[in-house]
Amino acid sequence: MFRRLLIANRGEIAVRIIRACREMGITSIAVYSTADRDSLHTVLADESICIGPAEANESYRNIPAIIAAAEITDAQAIHPGYGFLSESAKFASICLECRLAFIGPNPKTLSLSGDKAACRKAVEAAGVPVVPGSPGIIQDPEEAVKIAEKIGFPLVVKATHGGGGKGMRIAHNDATLKHDVAMAASEARAAFGNGGVYLEKYIEGARHIEFQIVADQFGRIVSLGERECTIQRRHQKLIEETPSTALSASLRSRMAKAALRAARAIGYTNVGTVEFLLSPNGQYYFIEFNARIQVEHGVTEEVTGIDLVREQIRLAAGEPLGYSSVIPRGAAIEARIYAEDPELNFRPSPGIIKRCHIPGGPGIRVDTHLFPGYEVSRYYDALLAKVIARGKNRQEAIARLVGALEEFLTDGVSNTARLATRIVRGDRFRRGDIGPDLLEEYLPSIG
Ligand code: ADP
Repeated sequence: MFRRLLIANRGEIAVRIIRACREMGITSIAVYSTADRDSLHTVLADESICIGPAEANESYRNIPAIIAAAEITDAQAIHPGYGFLSESAKFASICLECRLAFIGPNPKTLSLSGDKAACRKAVEAAGVPVVPGSPGIIQDPEEAVKIAEKIGFPLVVKATHGGGGKGMRIAHNDATLKHDVAMAASEARAAFGNGGVYLEKYIEGARHIEFQIVADQFGRIVSLGERECTIQRRHQKLIEETPSTALSASLRSRMAKAALRAARAIGYTNVGTVEFLLSPNGQYYFIEFNARIQVEHGVTEEVTGIDLVREQIRLAAGEPLGYSSVIPRGAAIEARIYAEDPELNFRPSPGIIKRCHIPGGPGIRVDTHLFPGYEVSRYYDALLAKVIARGKNRQEAIARLVGALEEFLTDGVSNTARLATRIVRGDRFRRGDIGPDLLEEYLPSIG
């Protein structure tokens, strides 16, 4: 097992990884930008080292600075967290060349999972349903027109290297399709350095259901069940739960098998997520892999008792899984709280937190890097905290989550806690009648 591990990330996930290291007897090494000199991860890690200025490209995305920090601090492994370099095949392979273990899948798998169009092909070839769409990258706008004739509108134009809800455009008709494809390609080139786009049928009313998988280097892969992440703003998840109210036992088992088949098709190892869309008529379609720890991993941990960050480290160190099936118990729901103003179309709201209260009590877990005096920086993701409630059933988890969200207090920044409270208290959420339109119902009435 590793003795010294460097965390190439910040915020709540860096704190989460520090905690796992502490439990495992591993020395944690934080890296920080000048904006994060006083951040919680910088303070809590056993050691910490500055890697550059506030701009992420010069610090948390700066490969030479991170590799240098690992060498200076004698780290044996790097945990990339989520976002930043977590799914970079280039970073993973540089780590390996520098004899640093990369906590995640191997570079080959990462380059395939990061190319969504190629991944779709590989997964479809393995017999897993994918959303009807283009066979690969769209070569010219005429090809898009032909595909549209075959599968009909609306369509989604997606960047093959897109992610984080960015690089997607909905095309509604022939008149705009060529323009949409050209725009999506040029946006993708600017944002992801690759202009490849592909088409998918837009599935109306689809629910987002993803499966957590764990895979060792000896060919064993296990599903840890699903998470429902349908409630999103701008294709970014807001509320996640497990189990999903959309799945019968038999659909769950079919989707779990499909997730494992998809993971095998790309030689997946370590901890990962297989994302599906579930249409209102019960048909599921693979959309993509998330080859990293997910923001929402905590709900799965709460119902399985498995520490996923610990599993990532263990599996990267070459340890076997040691189990062949896991039966989740109870229910868990997470509300993400962002420093954003829901009344201003979720505009980021940076500022200094002078006072805050983090909820607690039975069945409540809050993953956060907040503390009084913390400055929410405009340079980074606006995630403030993840409030996770566990219950013996969904009803109990909801009651606990509502209580915890009402308790969550912070000054200095606008945030989404009140919006989340309204959603989880609402009739639709309680009934489990969840759809991509649910959030809209709450937006106009915020005030
Ligand atoms: P990203 O990698 O940017 O997160 P995804 O492909 O996972 O992009 O899509 C993000 C979200 O957009 C999904 O969770 C889903 O809500 C919506 N979405 C994606 N593809 C489709 C589709 N073909 N039809 C309907 N909704 C979609």
